[in-house]
Amino acid sequence: MQTRCLIGGEWTDARAGGTLPVTNPATDAEVARVPSMGGSETFDAIGAAWNASAAWKSRPAADRARFVRRLSELMLRDADRLARLMTLEQGKPLAEARGEIAYAASFLDWAAEEGRRLGGEIIPASAPNKRILVLRQPIGVVAIITPWNFPAAMITRKLGPALAAGCTAVIKPAEETPLSALALGELAIEAGLPAGVVNIVTGPPAEIGETLLADARVRKLSFTGSTDVGRVLMRGASQHLLRLSMELGGHAPFIVFDDADLEHAVSAALACKFRNAGQTCICANRFLVQAGIYEDFLGRLAQAVGTLRVGDGLAEGTTVGPLINDEAVHKVEAHVEDAQSKGGTVMVGGRRVRLEGLADRFYAPTIIEGMTREMRLFREETFGPVAPVMAFEDEAQAIELANDSEFGLASYFFTKDASRLIRVAEALEYGIVGANDGAPSTAQAPFGGMKHSGFGREGGHFVMDEYTEVKYVSWGL
Ligand code: ADP
Repeated sequence: MQTRCLIGGEWTDARAGGTLPVTNPATDAEVARVPSMGGSETFDAIGAAWNASAAWKSRPAADRARFVRRLSELMLRDADRLARLMTLEQGKPLAEARGEIAYAASFLDWAAEEGRRLGGEIIPASAPNKRILVLRQPIGVVAIITPWNFPAAMITRKLGPALAAGCTAVIKPAEETPLSALALGELAIEAGLPAGVVNIVTGPPAEIGETLLADARVRKLSFTGSTDVGRVLMRGASQHLLRLSMELGGHAPFIVFDDADLEHAVSAALACKFRNAGQTCICANRFLVQAGIYEDFLGRLAQAVGTLRVGDGLAEGTTVGPLINDEAVHKVEAHVEDAQSKGGTVMVGGRRVRLEGLADRFYAPTIIEGMTREMRLFREETFGPVAPVMAFEDEAQAIELANDSEFGLASYFFTKDASRLIRVAEALEYGIVGANDGAPSTAQAPFGGMKHSGFGREGGHFVMDEYTEVKYVSWGL
């Protein structure tokens, strides 16, 4: 496994020699140590990306696309190895990690295709002796800062379009999951990407972040993470008026109407809520269930939750792994206690699961009945395997409850009524709407949020806008 950083095509240690541990959240075992880099190494990485920029952007788009597609193929070739590494540092079940590698590769593949179609426009001018040409050009050096919950996919859905558009990159992965990023760096070299096109630095985030934001050679920041850190970065990005993509927190409502296909809604709920132990920014946070089917839905959901298996992600049959760290467990516990103190009832779970020989970081899949607006669960991202449920009477109330959030990333609802489907989809103040669908993420769709969930879109042809400048040439004949 690669444990050094990638700067200008060289595998590099921290200047002062410092390292940071990467630990397995399921066992507390140290998996590896990675460089603890700071401002000077980050400065070098920016320099390498800057130096590589001119040659990279002048290559034909089809040429760049070949490298990006090759990287995707190499990820798929090494899917088993990469998945294992991901489970070791992140904890998610191996099957989910394999799924993430395929998902991550699909963003590279998609971007490679989109990069080839990045054409401009000719606009009819207002004078006969003029032409207006619109060019789309790469934005330059891109800083990529990513979280630990999807250690590979959060990188590739930024890196793929950045490279395909002609940008070069400095990546700072989350300190919990740097190994997946470094493994991707190795494959980038194997794919033949020129030195400096992809650079990866690991270490304490604040200094690396500040260096990236203070350097005028960096022209863009693409960030996925918490709203709080997003705000800090946005402030810093004002120094050089960086272009920004901000994929921040979410608080997804999951609405089930009386007329829904309940079996479908329950299986979607299970996947949508408990994937990655509930540690995803689009996972269902608030279940809003219409009164007529409330008991029925709850009973079925409880039964489905009973089939989940908590354990080490590497163990056969595990469907819910550990939470990422102790702080995450404390947050889940605090949310559950808060709900109970405000009248909520734990119907299933509501406690840690202690497993022989493993770290005390596993939380039982949980259902809480009787959620109210006063509970923290209703407002804050729990980021754990907790499904709070409340009943509603009619469509207007469901929409009002669903939109009562500062976040606006993903939302879900289930109905068989086609008119209601379009009404509700239009009314939800969320960038992503799963209408009878609990798994909307895919490379060809524009993923992104509204309100405190940020801005910018990843996926689809839309993502190319995030990495390109529009320039027009007013051409006098
Ligand atoms: P999460 O809650 O998912 O851990 P964070 O927003 O804390 O989300 O982290 C997402 C990414 O942002 C990680 O790579 C983390 O290291 C990075 N990060 C955290 N604080 C800063 C900062 N001050 N400057 C730059 N990056 C930061």
